Amino acid sequence: SEQKAQQDLQLILDDIHRELAPRFGEGKVADYIPQLARVNPRHFGMAIVTTDGELHRVGDAEVPFSIQSVSKVFTLTLALGKHGENIWHRVGREPSGSAFNSIVQLEHEGGKPRNPFINAGAITISDLILAGHTPKELIGEIVRFVRYLADDETIVIDHEVARSETATGFRNLALANFMRSFGRLDHPAEHVLGVYFHHCALAMTCSQLAKAGLFLAAGGSNPLTGHSVVSRQRARRINALMLTSGHYDGSGDFAYRVGLPAKSGVGGGIMAIAPGKASIAVWSPGLNENGNSLLGSLALEMLAARTGWSVFGP
Ligand code: GLU
Repeated sequence: SEQKAQQDLQLILDDIHRELAPRFGEGKVADYIPQLARVNPRHFGMAIVTTDGELHRVGDAEVPFSIQSVSKVFTLTLALGKHGENIWHRVGREPSGSAFNSIVQLEHEGGKPRNPFINAGAITISDLILAGHTPKELIGEIVRFVRYLADDETIVIDHEVARSETATGFRNLALANFMRSFGRLDHPAEHVLGVYFHHCALAMTCSQLAKAGLFLAAGGSNPLTGHSVVSRQRARRINALMLTSGHYDGSGDFAYRVGLPAKSGVGGGIMAIAPGKASIAVWSPGLNENGNSLLGSLALEMLAARTGWSVFGP
């Protein structure tokens, strides 16, 4: 029956792909930088890696895309590794209730970002992990960490994306400087943003992203490589943050519809975790009104309904 479940999973993916195909291209592709604006909106890929090591793929699962804010899960993991629970003096753990790049909340809360996944929070995380490094060294460390998680040495940063982010990132620069005005940044804004823009510019395929998330589905260790990444408790806690804050101001809706911890990015990617079962990545560039992949969210909703995967009950 184990074998049957595996076959079923591939059938479910094939069905989702076929059923969504008439809608490929729906949603609004991010256009704040040319590299994202010119991505073909009809791409759709999905990959699942189960905790017992099976990989299932459909569509454009081997096409690299800009993972953008999905990378914030990996930098949060690094920050927890370096500084442990001390990071919570610098960033909160509550859903934001405002847009991903909002500056208003910072003014009301003394420059402390609500969570590590909104821009201000992720910029704070970049500042925390910069301690003792040059930006260049840290960017190298982040890439090596993601390669280690996915067990894939071919993962790289798209430097053209990083350059464009830097050239247009006025609001992120404002967020960083605003936090610095509260004494809440240890390094120059330009250094911190250099790190932030580069990790957002990581280019990965659905297969690579699903593998990189597997440690979160399997109690902190990657069962494919045997690499122990974080403790069980820490894996649960990172999942909790993804559930409550992983989809910007649409996190409640995503939890209601899909019921799995997940992190989205403005490039149209989503990494979702079915604890004890699997790590899933989906990519479709068209976004919904909250800036989350429109068809990606729908595909995960279909997958969760058909597999019964949910953190809220059997
Ligand atoms: N680099 C993007 C920004 O900071 C990330 C946006 C996102 O994926 O949420 O605007």
